[in-house]
Order: sequence, then C-alpha cells, then structure tokens
Amino acid sequence: MKVAIIGGGWAGMAAAVQLAQDGHEPSIFEASRHLGGRARALELPGPLQADNGQHILIGAYTESLRLMRAVGVRESDGLLRQPLAMRYADGSGLIFPHLAAPLDALVGIARASGWTLGERLALLARALRWRVQGFRCAPTATVADLCQGLPRRLLDEFMEPLCVSALNLPAAQACGSVFLRVLQDALFAGSGGSHFLVPRVSLGELFPLPAAQWLQARGQAVHTASRVQQLVPLGRQWSVQPTAAAAEPPRFDAVLLACPPQEAARLALAAAQDERLPARDGVHYQRWAQTAQALEHTAIATVYARTPSRLPSQRPWLALRPAHDRPAQFVFDRGQLHSHDPAQQGLMAFVVSDCRTDRETLQPQVLQQAGEQLGWQDLEPVQTVIEKRATFACTPSVQRPGMELGHGLWACGDYVDGPYPATLEGAVRSGTQAARQLTGSR
Ligand SMILES: Cc1cc2nc3c(=O)[nH]c(=O)nc-3n(C[C@H](O)[C@H](O)[C@H](O)COP(=O)(O)OP(=O)(O)OC[C@H]3O[C@@H](n4cnc5c(N)ncnc54)[C@H](O)[C@@H]3O)c2cc1C
Repeated sequence: MKVAIIGGGWAGMAAAVQLAQDGHEPSIFEASRHLGGRARALELPGPLQADNGQHILIGAYTESLRLMRAVGVRESDGLLRQPLAMRYADGSGLIFPHLAAPLDALVGIARASGWTLGERLALLARALRWRVQGFRCAPTATVADLCQGLPRRLLDEFMEPLCVSALNLPAAQACGSVFLRVLQDALFAGSGGSHFLVPRVSLGELFPLPAAQWLQARGQAVHTASRVQQLVPLGRQWSVQPTAAAAEPPRFDAVLLACPPQEAARLALAAAQDERLPARDGVHYQRWAQTAQALEHTAIATVYARTPSRLPSQRPWLALRPAHDRPAQFVFDRGQLHSHDPAQQGLMAFVVSDCRTDRETLQPQVLQQAGEQLGWQDLEPVQTVIEKRATFACTPSVQRPGMELGHGLWACGDYVDGPYPATLEGAVRSGTQAARQLTGSR
C-alpha cells in the first residue's frame, strides 16, 4: 500500500518505519523543516544544541526502544540507563537497586532514605493493593483518589512528582487508570521497566533523523517543509495538497493523520465537505473532529541555565521541591549526560511540568529555587522554552478520538485513544498500531 503520513513527529516516523518493515510504501509530509515534532532538537544561543524540552524515557517504553534499534540507534549511544531515582539535594528520597522487577521496587521503597518505617510500609502496602486489584480502578478515579490515606510526605515527595512527570497534571486532576497502567508497565511488566533512560544525544538524533535516513535508504519519501493543506478523496484513493509540482499528483491508498489534534481535525473537517466523499464518512469525520477539538492541553517548560557547579554526588539529575512560586520538579545536568560535547558542560535543564506561568515570571522563580535548594547563586539563564500544548490533559473524563476515521483515513499520535498518556511511547505505539491496522484492513 502507498500511505501518505501527515506529520513527522515520533508517531508519524514510527508508523512509516513499521509500514516499510511490512513491505509498504510510506511517504512522510512534515510541515516544519525539522523532524521530531514536540520531541525535536532545538538550537539555543551559543550556538548550542539542546531540545525543545528535556525528555526522559523509561525502560517500559519497549516499542520506542525496538524502533530505535531497527533504525540503527544503539541504546548505549543514545540513552543513559539508570535505575529509577527520585533523590533530592539533601540525599533524601529513593533509588531502586539493580535487581529484577518487582524486587527492585520493593527493596528501593524499603530502603528509601528520609522516610519513616511507617511511611515506607504504607507505600509498599498500597503498591501491593494496586497489584492485587490488577492495576484497575474506577474510570472516574483521579490519582489523588488512589492515594487517599497515604502519608503527606509520600504524596509530596513521590506520588505527586511521579504523577506530574508521567501525566503532566497534578494528582487531583490526573486520570487514575492511565496512571496505574504506566505504573504496572514500569514496575511489574518486566525487568528494567522502571529504569530511567535519559537522552545523551539530541532528541532528533535519538529516533526521527535516523528513521528518516533508514526510510530514504529504502527508497521511501520524507518531505520536510511540506505542510499539507488539504486531503482530496479520489474514489478509494487519496491525494494530498500541495504536493511537489508533478504532472500527475501521486495517489495514496490510505492517509494517516500524524499531526496534532487541532490540525488533524481541520484536515478531517475539510475532507468531510468534499462531495466525492460518501456522506456517512463525512458525518463520522465531523464527529471525530469534534472529539479531537474538545481535548484540553497542558504546558511544559524547560529553563536552560549555566553554572560552573555540578549536581551533588555527580548525579545526572535530581528531584526538586516545588511550591507555589518554586515551580521546577527536576533538574538535569546536560554536561554529564552529553559528556562528549564541551558546549554542554555546565548547562542545566530545569523541568516545569504542568506549567501555568508565563516566561517572564517563570525564569526568575526557577533561578531563585535553584539558589535556595541547590545553593547555586551563579546561574546564568540561557533560554526558557514553554510548549503550551505539550500534552493533552489526561483527566478521568477525557474522551480521546479513535484511530480509524473511515474511507482509508486514519489517525495516530499521543492523543489518540490508547492506554498511555501523552508520551513518546504513547505516540510510537499509536503509530505502529495504526500502521498495522490500516494495512490489515484492506
Ligand atoms: C516540553 C515537553 C516535554 C516532554 N517530556 C516528555 C518526557 O519526558 N517523556 C515522554 O515520554 N514524553 C514527553 N513529552 C511528550 C512527547 O514529546 C509527545 O507525546 C510526543 O512527542 C508526541 O508525538 P506525536 O508524533 O504524537 O506528535 P507531534 O510531536 O506533535 O508531531 C506532529 C507533527 O505534525 C506536524 N504537522 C502539523 N501539521 C501538519 C501539516 N498540516 N502537514 C504536515 N505536518 C504537519 C508537526 O510539525 C509535527 O512535527 C514532552 C513534550 C513536551 C512538549
């Protein structure tokens, strides 16, 4: 099958690799000059290679890791793998030991430093209860509901930071069942699932760029700076506009929308108006677009700043203690992560998930927080990047649009209905699943 993929983020690139592996002909159309979408490289003043947001993967991201290997990325070159660690600057918090799952979690929690015996037992008991219940909960439950009765310190120092990093929402608003699914995969689905994998190369080099090279080496088309304006149904096939000036625009057997929900909705609604499309498909496209447009979004900010200091105990990242006007949850030492790159030495990335502040307010707050919690008075701000629509808001009531729109039009992306929140793995799984289903449907 010839498949047009609209969007060269992680979902679109994953779908293209899967299609090519299965013997089909994908063509990527990416609006920007750079591949990778929300997880892409970004040049900072210097010039300095960074990312448009500091990202972290976990060992349970098996589909992302499989595709990286498929396109020739060696995990040890691209990622620093370490056991789950939620350590604070004062040495409190927890680090899982190098043990098979779920022993790593059990021993890690039992040995957590700075928590009383009662607190550690309470967390172990709750993890056991979730396991006995099959990591299921009422669809209306929030993460805060799941954590009811846990000691305050556990909520502040473990559950809340874990929840906001995984779902980009505070526990009081985040969907309990999606959170439990991530926990299950991380803690119980296999050894190493809970490991943190932090990029040692730019996000572009981690997957989108090698994927593009892999596709091009197999004769597949990757068009950048090609924003698709319109989809045109031609009988059972499609063409996309604009395409490169060609006498006869190429026809595709299917179109896969791998662009963000608002843009996918725009394209679907325009196609629904086309009189060549059967009326019942048009009605379905309209319903799908309404669901996509109704999604709400939350922001993530990354504050890049320089310091001659290092993180305590040479750790590549540390948890911070957020408060109302002290918004960062984590700090990453990019000098340690990108040790081969002299320009990254001394560069810190402060992550503010569920960011609700503007740049002018945020940056001084984070510098102040670093001064208080890390003792760094010498931080030089480099750049603050705020992605306003970083993730869809994964609340218990959220309705996510499905994968199949009908008449050969499909959708994939981190927001499409699935078990994961808006993450790289959610995007990649959605991409490979759509690729398999759309080819299987013919
Ligand atoms: C700051 C930040 C931090 C994050 N941290 C993490 C993290 O630590 N771990 C994690 O797992 N996830 C994280 N995420 C989430 C993760 O980046 C996303 O879930 C993932 O990148 C989404 O990929 P996607 O392919 O679904 O969508 P996108 O990345 O949005 O890709 C869509 C692509 O479509 C293109 N496009 C749009 N319109 C058109 C058109 N008309 N024609 C052609 N192309 C078009 C866009 O340019 C874009 O490249 C973070 C996100 C942000 C923003």
